[in-house]
Amino acid sequence: MSLFHPVNLVCPHCEAPVTMMAVGSVNADRRPDLREDILKDRFQDNECGACGESFRLQPQFNYLDAGRGQWIAAMPASRLRDHLELEDESQALFDTSYGAQAPAAAREVGSGLAVRLTFGWPAVREKLLVRQLGLDDAIVEMTKLHILRSVESVPMAEGIELRLVDTDEEADGYVFAWLETASEKYIEYMTVPTELYRAIQGNPEGWAAVRSRLEDGCFVDMQKLYMGEGREAG
Ligand SMILES: [Zn+2]
Repeated sequence: MSLFHPVNLVCPHCEAPVTMMAVGSVNADRRPDLREDILKDRFQDNECGACGESFRLQPQFNYLDAGRGQWIAAMPASRLRDHLELEDESQALFDTSYGAQAPAAAREVGSGLAVRLTFGWPAVREKLLVRQLGLDDAIVEMTKLHILRSVESVPMAEGIELRLVDTDEEADGYVFAWLETASEKYIEYMTVPTELYRAIQGNPEGWAAVRSRLEDGCFVDMQKLYMGEGREAG
């Protein structure tokens, strides 16, 4: 089931009260339209009845797509700094829903699911896109790390992130964008040859150490490598 609950908000423009239905969980197998809304950047968009201003509720829901093998704890952008704690909470929630502590039928569904944690809309959208394109999300993150090392100046800063946003078939490339996490405002685009992704894919030994850091919890995102010490090894 996809579960919604009413929340009371204040319009950021005119401060009129706005009530909207916020989603607590998304079941993409039963509601493919909600998956489509996330991919189209319009899920949980609202319009103020008084002034017409549109604004978007930050994500805070669990996402299940058994058909595509995805389970995602989608969190608000503002909680990024709590990623270690939220990794533990998300994994624990997954374990009771579809993992070791779940009933047998649910565990069977769970065995086919990759567990992920994301912060903000661009990140959850990216996970859906990466799966749609049949890519490995850890390699997508490695591709970003390669981009960071290769370009002369990057607009990297707190609140700015690099996301895979599209493909460019004509150029045989992947389109990455620098964008502002909270507002989703695009700052800059670049097209990266798909060959770069394949080169990283073809060198698993060279990238093994990075992969193990990226996959030491369900927050598979290169941002974790730039935030503090991370988890203790082993
Ligand atoms: Zn308003």
